Amino acid sequence: MKRMILPAVKENIGCAVDYLKQGALVVLPTETVYGLGADATNGVAVAQIFAVKERPQFNPLIVHVSDVNMAMRYVEVDPLSYKLMDHFWPGPLTFILPLRRKSGIHPLVTTGLTTLAVRSPQGIFSKIIAAFDAPVAAPSANRSGRVSPTNAVAVTEDIGSQVPLILDGGPCSVGIESTIIKVGGDAVLLLRPGGISRAEIEKVAGFPVLRLDQHTAIEAPGMLDSHYAPDAAVRLDVVEIYEGEALLAFGSKRAKKSEKAIAILNLSPFGDIKEAATHLFDYLRRLDRRDISRIAVEPVPPEGLGEAINDRLVRAAAPREKG
Ligand code: AMP
Ligand code: MG
Repeated sequence: MKRMILPAVKENIGCAVDYLKQGALVVLPTETVYGLGADATNGVAVAQIFAVKERPQFNPLIVHVSDVNMAMRYVEVDPLSYKLMDHFWPGPLTFILPLRRKSGIHPLVTTGLTTLAVRSPQGIFSKIIAAFDAPVAAPSANRSGRVSPTNAVAVTEDIGSQVPLILDGGPCSVGIESTIIKVGGDAVLLLRPGGISRAEIEKVAGFPVLRLDQHTAIEAPGMLDSHYAPDAAVRLDVVEIYEGEALLAFGSKRAKKSEKAIAILNLSPFGDIKEAATHLFDYLRRLDRRDISRIAVEPVPPEGLGEAINDRLVRAAAPREKG
């Protein structure tokens, strides 16, 4: 099978579908981050995702579907989840729902759980799934624990040599992973903050979205403390820059001694939180240079997508563990 990087245009949908049918991995652009896709019903294909990512086998994968109807083939969709899907799909919102019996989803995908994470992504990926007419498991297209890729170059540098087909769709429009929720009775639990803010979900659901404590939650087994980590150390909420540091800035007001910074990238000079999300992973990668020992990060407000940005930053700064 030839290794290729192709533009993510409709002429290449057929090629991506052929590769998926053959059980090959395909890197696909989404609005969140680039995904490493495989046929979710094919155990050999799914096993390759874990191998390429060096991902722990207890960390389940999100399965992508083209729409709500397709989701209903694999999971039981309750009325509130349906309402939220109808409103937010295609988009960066993932649902944890009971897996149907004989769903055909390979158990490696769920790591043996009786629930499945499902999402319908925006853009060409949905068209590929519809043409493939089968669910596609796709975690972020990076080695496990590292910074997620938001453009095709970042994918190529990280795992590119191990994937036969990469579709290049340019920079991701949201730039941060999907929000993961679980609906239970008439409550919505937030398992991972992401591209749809808690307030947006609350508005449609009509009641509060509760944050699940990740440390007690077997609900989200893959939420490792250290994740999204560059090689450089990361220091958060800085008010002053030290020798040897690079600065990941936010807004118009600089930390003290910012002139000492070896390099500065600003997530959003005007303090726009959505713009900051689109730049977060790209800028963390760009500042992760050999001459930079630590990345100092200015405070990012927690509102809206700021919850997801801060979640990723805390993990990027956490003590490193191989996982
Ligand atoms: P990603 O690494 O972006 O593909 O996201 C996958 C994450 O989704 C995992 O790390 C889990 O936290 C979560 N997840 C996937 N499947 C399940 C599931 N069945 N139950 C709970 N959380 C899940
Ligand atoms: Mg990931």
